[in-house]
Formats: sequence, structure tokens, C-alpha cells
Amino acid sequence: MLKVAKFGGSSLADARQFQKVKAILLMDEGRRYVVPSAPGKRDDEDEKVTDLLYLMQKKAAQGEKIDEEFARLKERFAGIVEALELELDILPHLGELREAIEGGASPDFAASRGEYLNGIVLSHYLGWEFIDAAEVVFFGENGVFDADQTQEVLSAKLAKAKNAVIPGFYGSMPNGEIHTFSRGGSDITGAIVARACSAALYENWTDVSGFLMADPRIVKKPREIEVITYRELRELSYMGATVLHDEAIFPVRMAGIPINIRNTNEPSAPGTMIVRADESQVRGAITGIAGKKGFTAIAVEKNLMNAELGFGRRVLQALEESGVPFEHLPTGIDTMTVLCSDANLAGRIEGVIETIRRSCEPDHIEVISGLSLVATVGRGMVRYPGTAAKIFAALAEAGVNIRMIDQGSSEINIITAVESADFERAVNAIYSAFVKSSP
Ligand code: ASP
Repeated sequence: MLKVAKFGGSSLADARQFQKVKAILLMDEGRRYVVPSAPGKRDDEDEKVTDLLYLMQKKAAQGEKIDEEFARLKERFAGIVEALELELDILPHLGELREAIEGGASPDFAASRGEYLNGIVLSHYLGWEFIDAAEVVFFGENGVFDADQTQEVLSAKLAKAKNAVIPGFYGSMPNGEIHTFSRGGSDITGAIVARACSAALYENWTDVSGFLMADPRIVKKPREIEVITYRELRELSYMGATVLHDEAIFPVRMAGIPINIRNTNEPSAPGTMIVRADESQVRGAITGIAGKKGFTAIAVEKNLMNAELGFGRRVLQALEESGVPFEHLPTGIDTMTVLCSDANLAGRIEGVIETIRRSCEPDHIEVISGLSLVATVGRGMVRYPGTAAKIFAALAEAGVNIRMIDQGSSEINIITAVESADFERAVNAIYSAFVKSSP
């Protein structure tokens, strides 16, 4: 079974981590292609090599000296090479990089060298071919990823390599200049490589044993999610859960390749599987809970609003004219409420209300601020009665007043708006109701 394994920065932060990575790769012959990040933090006080490289570029561009930073960079890479006893002279590579940065290299070029150098070190350590991402990952003139050209060139290249190391995070522009994805972009490269070789599985190795059902800063020791669908992941990440970036999932989602989130420090843990569809979830069970603070509702009331043609459009137009996007739109017979994030409403709320007053002539407008949204997501709630009842009962029992309810027609997500002071209590109440009662 052909697999692509992407390792994050903490998985390759020092020589010991490199040893774990090698052991993982050699454990399974199917793991033929590996995508490394740049070395990450070794502990909480440490710095990421990518941050260091950005700093060096910035200082050099301002005409400042970078000796101290260069010494730290050298210590990171030379330290790994030495501890692994590699016959690789990394110093000329580092010297070249320093010269390039001092000679005015772009931030993208500088930042990309963390992955580039780490890829060279890893390919020596494994004895695998090194494929420079600049030769196989392409961006258009505008800096947008060119999926077609990349797929064509990369798949042909991989077809000729039994094993290879392809550094993450960067590629090249039509003029040959290096261009990077957004921060954390090695995840995207991993997905691109998985698609290019039609892998059966894209393994994303990190420092946690999978996604958690809830934010551990709110719920104590939440359970790990075993299986999650792409759609559920989208719902949870929209609601603020820190999971894989949409962009990172896109290439494998398109190709129907599942993703397995794994822990380099605990390789025996199965991690979280992200799949297109899954029928195995127990009916009535949930996958995860996420939420966000900082919302305001504008409730517009007008008698016989339901019969007034164009009323909804005029409310939404008021938002559009002020440049405010809305998140949710619960309606009643004579009321229509728009829920917007405080960040988007800042400085614009008066304008919005004024426009609604003028164009809709409502009986009453109420602004309710200080709201939070809590999303309960689960494919197990589709066509299954009882999930909403369980959520509302749990909130009632915890003394949390629900200000609004929204269930999209996808039927895998029930969103409740609560007062921000109740937010943590609400998340915990829902979590306990489902997790404690499930087998
Ligand atoms: N090294 C890059 C960053 O820190 C990319 C990555 O690790 O995915 O953002």
C-alpha cells in the first residue's frame, strides 16, 4: 500500500527525532515518499528554523548584521548532521545560504531553505533520492498554485523514483524564483505528493495522537477522534478548531485519498483518519465540538414581514453595503436575525443599523452583543432523532440559556449561540452529555 509520509517541524527538530522518523519509515515499505518540514522547536523556549530564516532575511534587508542568527542556524543543522554521523558537508550549503540572504534574497527564498536543507539531510540519512520541490511544484505568475503543471511533472518524476524525499512548503514561479505556500504549508506539499503518486494513504506525522473532540483548554483530557469525514472537518475548522488547513486537504480530498494524522512520538497510536465518507459511526454519537467567541446578533422585527417581498434582501444589502459578511441567519415569522463576528462589525454597526432602518422600516431592531457560537458536529446525527434534544437538555441542566439555534440542512452540525460568559460551561456540558453516555 503506497503511502506518503509528511513529518512536521517538531518531528524533525533534532537528531533524536530524525531517528524516530527513520524507524517509522523503515517499519513499512509502503512509505516510499517523505515530505519534511524545517526543524521546529525542540522545547517551548526554542525557535523554529523557519522563524529564524525570516528574521535573518529581515535583518539583512535592513542592512543589519546576521552573525548571531547564522551561528544559531549553523548549530541546528550541523548539530543534526554530526549527531547522526552523516558523511555530509553541510557547511558549504549554509555558507551559500548566508551569502544569498546577505545579497538580498527574498523572504520566500530564505524561508524555504529550512525545508530544503532538512530535505538534503534527511535524504542522506535515509539514502533516498532528493527531489528539489522547486523542480516539481509550480506556481503561476500571480503566485497561485498551478495544480495541473505540478501534477504532470511531479507524477512523472515520482514514477521513476522508488523512494524520495521532497521538501515541503515551497515551489517555483515561472521565472524560476522560489515561492512558498502560507505558513504551515508543508501539509499542502504532502497532499500534493500523495495525489501525484496516487497514494492509498497520506500520513501526516506530528506531535499529537490525532485530533481531539474538543479544545483541551476548555474540556479536560478530551478524547481523540478516530474517524472524521472531510465535511465534518470543514465544519469543525470553520468553528475554530485547529485542524488541517482547507488548502492542505484539497488535493487529497479531490483524489479521494484518506489522511491519517499520526504521532511521531507515539507511533503505535492509530491517530485520526480523515475520510470521504464513513458509515460506521454509532447513530446519535458526535465527532467533535468547537466554538468561537465574539459575535453580535442584529435582530430585525417587523409585523407581517413574511409577506413583504424583498425584505430579506434589503437586510442583507445593508450589510453588503457596509462591507460586513454575515455568518448565520436564523429567521422567525416576523423576525430576521443576522449574526456577524465582532471583528467584521467593528466601526460599522451604526451604518448597518441606519441603513436597515431606512430601507426596511422595521418595528424594532435589537443588537445583542457578547455572544459565542458552539458547534456540535457529527455525521451520526443525520436522520437520527434525539441529538438536538440531548444538546438542549445538557445546556438547560448546566443553566445555560440558548440565545439562538441553527441547524444547517447538511444535518451534521447543530450550532447554538450562548452568552460568552457561558461558553466554556456550554462546551463542557455538551461534551459530557455525549461522551459519558456513549459506550
Ligand atoms: N516550516 C514552515 C512553517 O513553519 C512550513 C511548515 O512547517 O509546514 O510555516
